[in-house]
Order: sequence, then C-alpha cells, then structure tokens
Amino acid sequence: MSLPMSEGLRATVETCVFCPKLCRWACPVAEAEGRETVTPWGLMTLLDDVGRGRPLDADAAAIWAHCTRCGRCQQVCKHDNDVPGAILDARAAAVEAGVSPPGWRVWSDAPHPVSPSLDALPEGGPTVVLAGRADEARVAAALEVLAAAGWRDPARPKGGVRDAGHRALSAGRPVAFAAAVEALAAAVSEAETVICLDAEDAEALRFDYPERGVWSGPAPRVMHLIEAVHGRLEGLEPVIAGDVLYLDACRLGRGLGIVEPPRAMLKSVVGGALREALTAGDDGGCCGAGAGLAAVDPAAATAVARDAADIEPDVPVVIAGACSAHLRAALAPRPVRSWVELIADGLPR
Ligand code: SF4
Ligand code: SF4
Repeated sequence: MSLPMSEGLRATVETCVFCPKLCRWACPVAEAEGRETVTPWGLMTLLDDVGRGRPLDADAAAIWAHCTRCGRCQQVCKHDNDVPGAILDARAAAVEAGVSPPGWRVWSDAPHPVSPSLDALPEGGPTVVLAGRADEARVAAALEVLAAAGWRDPARPKGGVRDAGHRALSAGRPVAFAAAVEALAAAVSEAETVICLDAEDAEALRFDYPERGVWSGPAPRVMHLIEAVHGRLEGLEPVIAGDVLYLDACRLGRGLGIVEPPRAMLKSVVGGALREALTAGDDGGCCGAGAGLAAVDPAAATAVARDAADIEPDVPVVIAGACSAHLRAALAPRPVRSWVELIADGLPR
C-alpha cells in the first residue's frame, strides 16, 4: 500500500528532505539512540520514500514509532516545519495498511488507573476535573490542592470519560480520536471550566478541539491544574529538605507555555535548591514516554528519560504530569516525585 500525500504534507516532507539536518541535535530520541534513521530528517526521508513507492510495511511503521511528538524539532526549525504532524499522517497510513506496531493500540486502549477519589465526585457540573492518566495518588493530591485554592464542588465528566483522546491521535487512529472528541464534548457539555491534570488533555482541548468546531455552544474555559491553583495557595511549607531537579514535561512547557508557575510553587515546598536540566523551560527535552514510544521500544524510551535527567544523579527528580510513571520506571532507584503530590504535602495543616 502506498501513502497518499496531500499537497501540504508533500511540502512539509520535501522541506526536510532538502534540509542539511539542521535540527538533528534537537531530537531527544535521535540523540539517545544515536542513529541517523530516527532523526527528524530520517523519519521524514522515509516518509518521502514511501510516498514515492517504497512499500509501506511494518519496518517503516516501526521507525515512525521513534517520535515522542515532543515538538523540539519544529521549535528549532527555521521553517517551523511540522514534523510531528507529518508523523501522525504516516502513522495513520500505517494503521490503515494494517502494519502498525501492536504496541500503539495496546497503549492507546490501556485502561485508566483506578481512582476512588475521582469516582467519589458527582458527574457533571460547572467545574469539571479531567483526570487523564493520573493515578489515585495524583488525583487525590490534585483535589486537595484545588480545594485549598478555593475551587468548590468539582465534578467529573459524565459517562466515565477520562481524557481528551490524544493517545488515539498519536497512535495513528484519527477515527477513534474523533469519537473520543465527541464523547468528551458531550461529557462536559454543562461545564464552565474544565481543569486538566494532564497537559496533553489541556493542549488537545485548547488547540485541537476548537479547530474541529467541537463546541456547539460557548466553549468551556480550559485550564491546566497548575493554572487553576497558581497564585491561589498560601502558606505552603517545605516538605523536602535538599535539592531537587525539576524536569519540564514537554506538553506542559513547550505545549502550554507553563514554565515559571510550577517552579515558583515548588520553591515553597523544597528546602534546598531547584536544579535545572540541561534543556529546560519551553526548550525542555523529553522524558521518552510521549506518543507511545515506551510501548513499542521501552529501551529507547528509557534511554531518552536517562538523558533528560542526566545531571545531579543524587538529586530527586520532580515532574508534573503523566510522565512521572515512566520516569519512575526508567530512573529507578532514583526517586521521582510528582509535582502535585509535593504541593499537596506542603499545604498548611
Ligand atoms: S524540521 Fe526543519 S531543521 Fe529539521 S530537518 Fe526538517 S526542515 Fe530541517
Ligand atoms: S517531535 Fe521530538 S521526537 Fe519527534 S522527531 Fe521531532 S524532536 Fe524527534
């Protein structure tokens, strides 16, 4: 099967093919794996080859799995070339052709963590908490922090919906993503505010949903948890004595531009210094968990995580969001702390 190329996709691909790999150094996956095939240029050249008749097979799809959609290549590209978007098209074609790695589907259909705290909330209301992939500890901490910040009577989405469907999109399943979008829009139809615990959900709701004309009435205000509590918490107390290394989740820093607020709040609960990774802020690297890489090639995803945290090896790592589970597995026995759990521990008692 060939890969149908729109004019836009063809232009995006050719911009990379004729480029002297100027973003090579910026791709955390290519740097961690140390091979040319998985550089942004390599992924796009393969797409070009398939567009010109190379078989669209499992080998090609397996290469396209080596992108976490971190967006760093596009950020440093002088043409703002949308490599991660082109890789989504490539993945969708691979799924359509039946040659995608099984890990994509397993990852995108993985059940959400059980959360009694979330289940205890009423369904539907003016303020809805979209828990995403947060586990019980992260949900419970988030609800505690939201209450301390003055958010009264949070609810959960109707019908047990837990996220915005971004995993389906990353796994090359645009039809499943469209269904997830419809389900979430109905599940929060009465909400004035949707507070997302995962940056991926806030990003999808803020950028992808309006592009699709999802909201039949006024769109709800979409906030990431950090935006919902920043500037609203008083009297936070130190709960960790030494230094910590704060890692920016790429969808939080680069995707939503939330860089300083998590640091400012973290400084209140950390007795030591806040250390920075080599790549930080909205130029942050990647933990390796994004877009299903860990489900297809766990060793590569682990190598990316280790590169990201490759300074101050004795210092605990703090990260906000869904990457914490992957980082814990990849960096063990090094402690990895969840940002919101630290903030909840620091609330005045
Ligand atoms: S994303 Fe930009 S810098 Fe990177 S290979 Fe493509 S055109 Fe070159
Ligand atoms: S989006 Fe990130 S992982 Fe994907 S090719 Fe670009 S830099 Fe590499």
